[in-house]
Amino acid sequence: MAFPTQSKYIIIGAGIHGLSTAYHLALELKARGKGNGADILVLDKSGISAGATGIACGVIRNNYFQPAMRELMAHSVKVWESDAEAYSYHPVGYMQISSESMHEDVATIHQQQQAIGYKSSFIEGEKDCTKYMQAILHDWQAQGITSVLHEMPGGYANNTKAMYGLADKAEAEGVRIMSGVKVTGFDQNAEGSIKAVETSKGKIETEYVVIGAGPWVKQFWEMLEMPKSIDIKNAQTGEISTDIPMWTYWSLQEGTLGVDPKLQVTNDGEMPPVIHVDTDAPLYSDEDGSLITDKMWGIYYKPDFHFGGIQGGAAPFIVDKPADEVAVDPYGPESPEFIVGVEFAHMWVSALAHCQKRFSGTMSKFKNEPSGGIGAFTPDSFPVFDKVRDNCYLIADSNHGYKMLGVGKLVAEDICGADSTLLEPFRFSRFAEGKLHPVSNSPFPWS
Ligand SMILES: Cc1cc2nc3c(=O)[nH]c(=O)nc-3n(C[C@H](O)[C@H](O)[C@H](O)COP(=O)(O)OP(=O)(O)OC[C@H]3O[C@@H](n4cnc5c(N)ncnc54)[C@H](O)[C@@H]3O)c2cc1C
Repeated sequence: MAFPTQSKYIIIGAGIHGLSTAYHLALELKARGKGNGADILVLDKSGISAGATGIACGVIRNNYFQPAMRELMAHSVKVWESDAEAYSYHPVGYMQISSESMHEDVATIHQQQQAIGYKSSFIEGEKDCTKYMQAILHDWQAQGITSVLHEMPGGYANNTKAMYGLADKAEAEGVRIMSGVKVTGFDQNAEGSIKAVETSKGKIETEYVVIGAGPWVKQFWEMLEMPKSIDIKNAQTGEISTDIPMWTYWSLQEGTLGVDPKLQVTNDGEMPPVIHVDTDAPLYSDEDGSLITDKMWGIYYKPDFHFGGIQGGAAPFIVDKPADEVAVDPYGPESPEFIVGVEFAHMWVSALAHCQKRFSGTMSKFKNEPSGGIGAFTPDSFPVFDKVRDNCYLIADSNHGYKMLGVGKLVAEDICGADSTLLEPFRFSRFAEGKLHPVSNSPFPWS
């Protein structure tokens, strides 16, 4: 097929947001009699799932302290549920297990989940939490846990498999997905409208562009001459913080314990919920008993046949360099700089053993293969979903986004003229207006 010189809609990035937008835009255009999937071209410099989407743990949950995030996640969970098979979605549920410092925050989350009809149970008090956990996983032994939020929907999806399912659905609607085409710039008119996308293979004229570039978002932000740093208003005091860098990178710490995934079945032999623990209980080495940390720490894990073991992660850390100096490429496991090392393995497997006895003595099974990757975060660590030109939509998820399969559906509706109330709290203007999201006590930047 010849290289295209024109496409009504161009979507940059074949990760979860680019593909979800492509598929849902095709459906939306068709439903409104405004076109169909053949009007949409997805471009990726590498290929489907080549970015953060392809290395994500794939956890899907509602548990967020911020009401706007929770409502958005509830919407996305429905999209996952709409075709669990094609999306390789495992609705095993999700558990937020916390020490006292997070009790109040999580109680609020539970109350608000009740208000929006998201099914969850909330267990309080150390004794009852232990009893509840041991009724599901007999060897549960984490001390100092005073609340368990058990979300019944949610779970996880197999990262790349789900994306091939989504790409198939988009292609079945006539969408064209091109790999190996790098976008290098935009041809804009005096008003800033994009007339064409410049690529490594030639120029493509277009009427509308959607950017879903994940960790590469900063490059597109600069191509569009958006500000490198911004001012942020504190709505309570009216004070303005000036010159805050727009993008910061965090390094995500994930890995796989190469045991039989069936090691982690419930007492009834079923696949368990995804476990997420945040606690300030001292963490000791499972190898030699030395203290690893007496500060707040957090981990998450699940048995996963796709990864071949128990897969999960721990709290990420900030890449301590100005964003201009961070090399996004080579990405993920191919980056010598941002893969996890022995320290992560030691902490994470010790933390697994802290929680469940069955993981004690398994340190040698940690898969010694490169894993982890970086994400691009906004100043408040929440997404920016917004029109950055009259004909250009930016999806910058601040690394929250594998679970957000529904965002592409909402963006497609937004593009077709139905202003989305769920996306409204994520506009870029919130920083200048001081309409920021509340901050929780979690050690993770995205809770
Ligand atoms: C290690 C790790 C674990 C994670 N785990 C989870 C999780 O369990 N749950 C969760 O909800 N989220 C998770 N996330 C976050 C989630 O993966 C991301 O938020 C999400 O995948 C971002 O999707 P995206 O479509 O925006 O970007 P990406 O998936 O990164 O896709 C962007 C695409 O753009 C392409 N591209 C870049 N530049 C150009 C260019 N110039 N021209 C053409 N194409 C270009 C890239 O090749 C890439 O394929 C995790 C992230 C990481 C790094």
